[in-house]
Amino acid sequence: MSQKTILIAGLGLIGGSLARAIKLGHTDYHVSAYNRSQAPRDFAIQEKIVDEVSDDFAALAVKADVIILNFPVQLSIDFLKKLATLPLKENVLISDSGSTKTEIVAAAETIFAGKSARFIGGHPMAGSHKTGVIASDELLFENAYYILTPSTLSEPKDLAELKDILSNTRAKFVELSPKDHDAMTAVTSHFPHVVAASLVNNAHDFAQLMPFTENLAAGGFRDMTRIAESSPDMWAEILMSNPDNIIYQIDQFSQKLAQIKQLIVQRQSAEIWDFFDQARKLRSLMP
Ligand code: NAD
Repeated sequence: MSQKTILIAGLGLIGGSLARAIKLGHTDYHVSAYNRSQAPRDFAIQEKIVDEVSDDFAALAVKADVIILNFPVQLSIDFLKKLATLPLKENVLISDSGSTKTEIVAAAETIFAGKSARFIGGHPMAGSHKTGVIASDELLFENAYYILTPSTLSEPKDLAELKDILSNTRAKFVELSPKDHDAMTAVTSHFPHVVAASLVNNAHDFAQLMPFTENLAAGGFRDMTRIAESSPDMWAEILMSNPDNIIYQIDQFSQKLAQIKQLIVQRQSAEIWDFFDQARKLRSLMP
C-alpha cells in the first residue's frame, strides 16, 4: 500500500470521472480536488468522489505527489506556470487530460526545464457533450483509448507509474508522440466536430428558405450531428490549439467534396456507386 496524494485540478466531467476511477481503484490514496466554484466542490465531497476540496490551488499542489490538470488547454498551461513557482514535492508527477498535446507538452518542457518535476501528457479519449462533475462517471473511460505522450521530462518508469494510478479507468493505454496524437485526432475527432457543426448550420440556413426542412432531420442527420451539441468553449479552444492539422483535413475533405461534385455534374453513376461502395467496405472494417 502506498500513500500517494493525487490532486485533481478542475472538477468537470473529465476531472470528476478521473477522480472517481482513481479513488475507487486505490482506496489507500488521498484524492484532493481544486475547483474555482463551490457547487462542484460540495457535490464531490457529498458523493465521496474525493477526500478533500479547496479553491486554493497552491495549498493543494504543494502537498501532492501527482497532479492531473483537467482544464481547457491554454488554462492548463497557465496552471503549469503557477506550479513552476511553487515549492512542489520533489519529483512530483504532473499530467493533464486536454484534447491536444503538442502545445502543452512543449510548454511543460520549457516551464519545467532543469526542475525536478516530471510531466506526461494525457488524453482520455472518451467524453460526452455534457459538462461538469454532475455528469462524471467512473466508467466513462472503460475500453476507451487513453493516450499518453511522454516528454523530455519523463522516463518509461514514470509512464508505468501513471498507468498504475489510472488503472481503474479500465482504459486502453497507448503511447504516442504529441505530434502524432494531434495529427490523428484531427482526423477522427477534431475535424468531425467541424463537419457536424457545419451540417447543422447549413440545415438552419437552408430552412430560412424552406422552413419545414428541420422537421425532416431524421436518423442519418441526427446520427451525424449529435456531437454538434458539444461545448463551443471546448471546441473553439481545440481548433485554436491544433490549427495546422485541422486546416489540412479541411483541405483534404474539400478535395473529396469537389471530386464527388464533379462525378454528379458528369452523371457518372458507376463511379458514384464505387464512391459509396468503397466507404461502406472501409467503414465495415473499422474497429
Ligand atoms: P468541463 O467544462 O466539464 O470542466 C472544465 C473545468 O475547468 C471545470 O472544473 C471548470 O471549473 C474549470 N475551469 C474552466 N475555466 C476556468 C478558469 N478560468 N479558472 C479555473 N477553472 C476553470 O470540461 P471537461 O469536459 O471536463 O474538459 C476538461 C479537459 O478535458 C479539456 O481540456 C477537454 O478538451 C478535455 N477532454 C474533454 C473530453 C470531453 O468529451 N468532454 C474528452 C477528453 C478530453
